[in-house]
Amino acid sequence: MSPLRAVVFDLDDTLTDHRSLQLEVEEEIVRLVGGQVPEHEAQAFGRRHLANLDGFYARWMRGELDEPGYHRARLTDALEPWCVPDDALVARYVELKRRTTTEVRRARGAAGAVAAVRAAGLRVGVLTNGMTDLQRGKLRRIGLAGAVDVFATSQDVGAVKPEAEAFAAVAGRLGVAPHEAAMIGDNPVNDIAGALGAGWAAAVLVAVDPPPADLPARAAVVASVAEAPQALGLAG
Ligand SMILES: [Mg+2]
Repeated sequence: MSPLRAVVFDLDDTLTDHRSLQLEVEEEIVRLVGGQVPEHEAQAFGRRHLANLDGFYARWMRGELDEPGYHRARLTDALEPWCVPDDALVARYVELKRRTTTEVRRARGAAGAVAAVRAAGLRVGVLTNGMTDLQRGKLRRIGLAGAVDVFATSQDVGAVKPEAEAFAAVAGRLGVAPHEAAMIGDNPVNDIAGALGAGWAAAVLVAVDPPPADLPARAAVVASVAEAPQALGLAG
């Protein structure tokens, strides 16, 4: 019998398929901005725009930027070799970017994976880095809000994955000890190293890309969230 009492899912690109939507939006942004930079530079802009995501997102999460400021700062930084974006371009850019928060796609197999954890008699949590209202809205729109016992964001726990405090907070809310919890997520650092570092029993990486070589030895790797419960010995 499994000693696990709870399984916690990451949200973005674990229960949701954010990546395919984000790629579509990135292509639209490159087309939009292509009119502002020399045509052969559009791909260079696209690379700069992707590369600056994590840094500016972290500044938004730390409260150094508000949402409009985050969008303007990213676009301005990505366009820096060529021009300063005017208000009209920023407005059209923000409109495109908001598709990534207003449109949500459920990852293939997500509902089945959550159901499998529940069917095994375990508690289900979600732990996501992000703003509470935004992230809760995504969970509702993929139809899984009612299937989750505890929903926790970095905003409401006051700690950001991979910090151990974030994992301790969600385990506490689930009423389980760290060694009774397992994490399922797509980020090797935030989800996998974070959970194992916090003393959790197991972690399953949902890897679209080949997993990194320095993945902790105790981590399991699956190609789809649908396979994650089985990797924890819960199904099949
Ligand atoms: Mg994720």
